[in-house]
Amino acid sequence: MKNSDLLKIAADYSGPIYVYDAEKIAYQYQRLFSAFKNIKSLRLNYAAKALSNISILKYINSLGAGLDTVSIQEVLLGIKSGFEPEKIIFTPNGVSINEIEEASNLGVQINIDNLSILEQFGSKNPDVPVCVRINPHVMAGGNSKISVGHIDSKFGISIHQIPHLIRIVENTKMNINGIHMHTGSDILDIDVFLYATEILFETAKKFKNLNFIDFGSGFKVPYKTGDIETNIEELGEKLTLKFNSFCKDYNRKLTLVFEPGKFLVSEAGYFITKVNAVKQTTSTVFAQIESGFNHLLRPMLYGSYHEILNLSNPNGKKRFYSIVGYICETDTFGSNRKISEITEDDYLVFKNAGAYCHSMASNYNSRLRPAEILWINDKAELIRKEETFNDLINNQIILDFKTI
Ligand SMILES: *Cc1c(COP(=O)(O)O)cnc(C)c1O
Repeated sequence: MKNSDLLKIAADYSGPIYVYDAEKIAYQYQRLFSAFKNIKSLRLNYAAKALSNISILKYINSLGAGLDTVSIQEVLLGIKSGFEPEKIIFTPNGVSINEIEEASNLGVQINIDNLSILEQFGSKNPDVPVCVRINPHVMAGGNSKISVGHIDSKFGISIHQIPHLIRIVENTKMNINGIHMHTGSDILDIDVFLYATEILFETAKKFKNLNFIDFGSGFKVPYKTGDIETNIEELGEKLTLKFNSFCKDYNRKLTLVFEPGKFLVSEAGYFITKVNAVKQTTSTVFAQIESGFNHLLRPMLYGSYHEILNLSNPNGKKRFYSIVGYICETDTFGSNRKISEITEDDYLVFKNAGAYCHSMASNYNSRLRPAEILWINDKAELIRKEETFNDLINNQIILDFKTI
């Protein structure tokens, strides 16, 4: 979508706003699908936590995807958005057995990543087929905060615990129908990822009734020019060979599953905010926006980079700015960014604002969470209203201290 479209949307609504380009989501879905076109049975389960607006889920459902969920609430959102329960996988970590049973009762595929829970669930529900999440102990990403396959990670059942896992399966007579890994975000090196898949294939051989192998996600998308990006096409070619040859040896048709979050929605998203104030100090020029880490946490949480452009003055002379928010905490979105000259009331846009942006927003400083727009067929459709003051106080019980 064009910058002029974004500018028009910003002017039509008050407050900061998230905009998502439907066409870009569909493009990324097709791109991943065609990278694996030689897989007979392929399923892409969108990771709902990246961006969980119901209209986005509905749209991704219409593309043919399944859904990857990590909480019972995401399962319910998925069902509300029209996903068949069979196309939803529940991959929680550290939740109670009750929550797993609740999801299972709704008919969704359960994925268990803990031997104690597996034993309890299998003893009570031996007829429910279960997927197991394996930790291959491979560091696929560059940043330990978003890498979850390594030895210290809380996720998954260690490959060194497979004998125990198999004993639980035999004792409970439960059926393992899928095996899963998710090594975390940002795959920089395809060979490291392929190495992890080898470990998963070795593990898969130990189970006789599998229907699918789920390789999780972690596809890296570019956040700025020159960024390394996972080469999906190359991964597609290499993994397809390995997968098809595994299926031949295994002598059974298997579905290959991925769970992309960031890959599908990151680049489709734009976050637009107004500049409240330009402030010169002895060391820099701050542009203070009408937002803070309450709306966009990633730069503060894990140092992520979001490109920032001045929509109101795209061709102006470039100058250096520190872009900061209005929260009473340090909330720096970018230091020393070269941006077209900024004047108060200009609109700035943050790119790559589709994944883990609105879904991580909070009410800190008693601010309202922003509206969301889906840009589809060259039209802006409102898919979430900006919160109101009433939303902030709705669940609060206001005590009357005279009567207590
Ligand atoms: C978060 C998550 C994903 C999605 O990861 P991305 O890096 O956004 O693609 C996939 N699978 C599981 C189990 C997850 O927790």
